[in-house]
Amino acid sequence: MTITDWLTRAKAALAASGCPDPEIDARWMAEDTLGMTRTDLKFEADRAIGDAQLKRLEAMLERRCAGEPVQYILGSADFMGLKFEVGPDVLIPRQDTETLVEAALIALQSAGPDSAPSAYSSVLDLCAGSGCIGLSLATLVPHARVTLADASRDALEIAKRNMHALGVKADLRHGDLFAAVGRERFDLIVSNPPYIPRGELAQLQKEVQYEPRLALDGGPDGLDFYRRIAEGAGSHLNPGGALYLEVGAGQAPDILELVKAHLPCVEAGTIKDLNGIERVVFAKI
Ligand code: GLN
Repeated sequence: MTITDWLTRAKAALAASGCPDPEIDARWMAEDTLGMTRTDLKFEADRAIGDAQLKRLEAMLERRCAGEPVQYILGSADFMGLKFEVGPDVLIPRQDTETLVEAALIALQSAGPDSAPSAYSSVLDLCAGSGCIGLSLATLVPHARVTLADASRDALEIAKRNMHALGVKADLRHGDLFAAVGRERFDLIVSNPPYIPRGELAQLQKEVQYEPRLALDGGPDGLDFYRRIAEGAGSHLNPGGALYLEVGAGQAPDILELVKAHLPCVEAGTIKDLNGIERVVFAKI
C-alpha cells in the first residue's frame, strides 16, 4: 500500500466514524509513523509503506475511529509552536488557550526587567496540567520564573517531562489550587481551570470523554474554580500584579464580576479569542 492509498483509506474511515478533521488526523498519524513532514508525504506519495509501519498506522486508525483523540494516540500536541507530551492524565492543550498565553506574554514583556519597579517576573500557573501555559511562558520569556501547580501528581509528572524536553526551569507544586503554594506571592497568576458545568459533561463530544474529568468539571454551574481563584488571588499577588483567566464561552461577564468583587482592581476586562468569543478575563491590582 502506498502513502496515498493509506491516506485515502484512512480519511474515508475517519469520516465514516464521525471524526471532525479526517484529513488532518490521517496526515498527523502518517507523519508521526513514517517520520516525515507534510511536504515529504506529498513528494513521496507513491512510496510503499513497510509492513511494520502499516501495522502501526492501522492500530492508530482503529483507536482514532473509536473516538480517542489523535493527540493521545500520538502522545503529543502542538501549542504555541511548541511540542507538549500529553496523555489521559492531562487535558489536551487547545488553541483557545493561546489567547491566554499571548495576553500573559504581553504583560510579561511590556513590564520587562528594565522597567522596574513594575517588572513582572514571577508567574503562577494554577491547574497547570501538561504545563502548556506556564512552560510556554518560561520558554518564550527568559526572565520569567514560573511555578506550575496542579492537584494531580500524574499531571505534574507529565509537566515535569515537558519542562525537561523544552529545556526550561519551573517549580512544580502539588496541591489543591493555592494550597500548593502556601503564602507565596506572584506577579502574575494565570489559569485555565476546569470550567464545564457538571451537567453538561456527558453531552460533550466523544473525544472529550477521554480527557480527565478532573480537568473539565467546573462544578454545578462551571464556576467553582473561578470563585476560589478570585477569593485567593488577592493574598497571592504582589502589589501591581495581575490575574489572567481563561473562561468558557458565555462565562466572561459572570467571572469578571466575581473577580471585581474580590480584588481591588485598577483595571479589569476581557480579551476575545480568534473566533470573537470573550476567552480571557484579566484583572490588575
Ligand atoms: N492548563 C492546562 C491547559 O490549559 C490544563 C487545564 C485544565 O486541566 N483545566 O491545557
